[in-house]
Order: sequence, then structure tokens, then C-alpha cells
Amino acid sequence: MIYKRSSALFDEAKKYIPGGVNSPVRAFNAVGGDPIFVKKAKGAYLYDEDGNQLIDYISSWGPMILGHAHQAVVDALVDKTKHGTSFGIPTELETKIAKLAVEMVPGIDKIRFVNSGTEACMSAVRLARGYTKKDKIIKFAGCYHGHSDSFLIQAGSGGATFGEPNSPGVTKGTAKDTLLAHYNDLDSVKTLIEENKGEIACIIIEPVAGNMGCILPKEGFLEGLRQICNEHSILLVFDEVMTGFRLAPGGVQERLGVHADIVTFGKVIGGGLPVGAFAGKAEIMNHLAPDGPVYQAGTLSGNPLAMAAGYAMLTELNSHREIFESLDKKTEKLHIGMKKVLDDAGIVHQINRIGSMISIHFCENPVTDFKSAAHGNNEKFKTYFHGMLERGVYMPPSAFESYFLNDALSYEDIDHTIKSLSEFVHELK
Ligand SMILES: *Cc1c(COP(=O)(O)O)cnc(C)c1O
Repeated sequence: MIYKRSSALFDEAKKYIPGGVNSPVRAFNAVGGDPIFVKKAKGAYLYDEDGNQLIDYISSWGPMILGHAHQAVVDALVDKTKHGTSFGIPTELETKIAKLAVEMVPGIDKIRFVNSGTEACMSAVRLARGYTKKDKIIKFAGCYHGHSDSFLIQAGSGGATFGEPNSPGVTKGTAKDTLLAHYNDLDSVKTLIEENKGEIACIIIEPVAGNMGCILPKEGFLEGLRQICNEHSILLVFDEVMTGFRLAPGGVQERLGVHADIVTFGKVIGGGLPVGAFAGKAEIMNHLAPDGPVYQAGTLSGNPLAMAAGYAMLTELNSHREIFESLDKKTEKLHIGMKKVLDDAGIVHQINRIGSMISIHFCENPVTDFKSAAHGNNEKFKTYFHGMLERGVYMPPSAFESYFLNDALSYEDIDHTIKSLSEFVHELK
């Protein structure tokens, strides 16, 4: 495939935008080469500026769970746009999507909408601190909760691939209130709690991690965190920005049966528009302004277009629950097919999967945390990524990202993907 026009557009972009992109992973730094520029997308396919058609395995990093330009979402947006695009005044639609979200997600009474997953996690932590009157938080190495200062401590994903876990610009004062535990390691959490008795407001975690590849919680890990939080009056915050409305209608809480005190959302909940949200029991959520003292606000929060896209998306998912099973089956087929090709060729690898999230690491040991994820062979990953791209398959351009399947993908697309891998698998030796 030829990516000539994309490369020219990238050169032009670099003149006016830092690194030519508005979010670092898009620049392909982890895999080398120039990024492709997208012209349009429909269903499971991206169409780039050179006229190539690509099978999309990132689905905008999650939101496009039904495929691109899904009719129900497009119709909702077109209709709304004609009637004004922002008011800064309440609308009925905000209550409708809030009510639907509260119905779909276990254990929440109220939800506040913001404009991104970053904002949702940042606000959730402020709320947890305001509610508990404590300052410190525990996060896990390799978990990403957006780019706000408190979270840029071994944050996985973009930060991980750039080898810059602590970004310049994050003050020591902020960093000292973020304590770092290890994923799937309850003892690391207990130690931190012992050392900081009575000072910890919340534990924030991706209950299924997607920012160091896809990493599953070990049996008993989330349950253990729930118990520790109960014993020490610490709030448990599930960052379900990736997993919410994806792994089940009610996210990980429903799928794995462990409940958090505050849950954050993004990605799917906005149907492809910039939306985030955080939610919890009324007792906690009522601490937010204007009812309570914890301040949080947004000029464009609850924006009518964003709410229309999100409402159409959640309505589709809620009324066609078979979508989740269908996604699981497609992802399982991809897993089995890729594993067979790699096994037959003798390529050492690990595939982690749950629901419609999956990732491959080229290493020998099971990938269960940030450290084991970092053992993956990045040279092989580069070869894999470019081999796929050459054959019209767009995989995440970093080994520290999960794939997000969308339901527009057909079994033929998945067969094509597996066949593509088999064509160059010998290069991975
Ligand atoms: C994407 C992501 C975020 C940040 O969301 P943005 O909308 O990019 O700000 C936070 N947490 C998790 C788990 C994410 O995957």
C-alpha cells in the first residue's frame, strides 16, 4: 500500500502542531514511520488520504463500538445540530442520558457529565478527597487515568512508550500525594496503606487495564481491593473510561461483579464526541457543587450534540444487548486464529483478552502487570504492526495499547486479518 499523501500531510502538520498530532500515540513514535491520515470512515473501515481501505482495530480507542458513522448516532447528531449546538442552560436530554446510564450501570445513583475521560478521573479524585477529607491517592503502575498532574506517575500507554513516566511540569508537591502500587499485587497496596495510615482518600484503578496492553485482574484481586477499602474507609474508584459500556452494559462492575464507590466513564459514553462522566451513590455525589462544597464545572459539559451522540449510542447498546456477546465471539475468533498462526510458526507470544479487548505481547512470561508488559519485544512488535498495516489492517501503533473491536467487523474481516499475519509471520522469528 502507498501512504504518500499521508506522509506529505504529516510533514505539513508538523509545521503547525507539536509533533504533527493532537495526542502523542498518533505520531507512530513507538513503531516508526509516518502516521496515516484518515479521510473518512464507515463501519469497520477507515479510508485514508491515499485511497487505501483499512480494517480498524482501534475504533477511535474505544468509542466506535458499533463501527464508524453508525446510522443511529449520525441521525441523532444531524437532527440536533439544526436546533443549536450549545446553550449553557439545562436540557431535558441531559436527564435522559443520565437516567439511562444509571439504569445500565450497577450501584450508581447519580452521574455528572464532563468533556473527557481525563476530566472525569481528575474530578472523581477531587470528589474522593473532598468526601473523605484525606489527601493521598493510590494508583497502579501502568494504569492511565488521563493526563492530569496527579496521574502522570508511571502512567502506561503514551507515557510508557516514551520512557517518560514522570512528565516535566508535574510538581513534586503533586507527585508526593500519588502513591504507586503494582497491578495484581494486593500486598503492594497493603504496604502503602500501612505506611500512610489514615491519609488515603481513594484507590483508583482500571479494573481491567487497557493502557499496558490488555491486562486482566487476577482472581480475587478486585475483591481484595474492595475489602481493603471497606476496612480502611478508603473509596474505591474504578476508571471504566475504556471498559464502561464495552465489557458489558454495566462495564466491569457488571461483568466481574465487584462494585466501586465512584466510577468514571469516557469513550463509548460519548458515541464519538468528547464526553466523560463520573458517577456514584447519591451520598457521595451530593458532595458536588451546587449541592455540596466540592467544586466542579464545565462550559460545554452536557453539550447537546455530545449528549445526543451518547444517548443514541447507549440506547443502541441497551436495547441490543446481544451486541456484547457478538463482540466477544468475534474477539475470540481473532484470538484463536492469531494464536494458531503464531504457534505454528514458533513465535513466542502472549495474548490477553476479555470481551472485545485484546492485545499481543511478544514475550515468554504471562503479562500481568506493567513490569511483565515491558518485557515485550518492541522490535517484533514494530514488524508486526507494519506487516499488518501493509496489508490493510490498522492495529494500535504501540504494544502498550489494547485493541478495541467494533461490531461492524465481519468474520471475513477477521479472516483477512489472520491471513495477513500468516503472510509475514516468518519475519517475526
Ligand atoms: C482514555 C482513557 C482516559 C482518558 O480519557 P480522555 O478522554 O483521553 O481524556 C482515562 N482513563 C482510561 C482508562 C482511558 O483509557
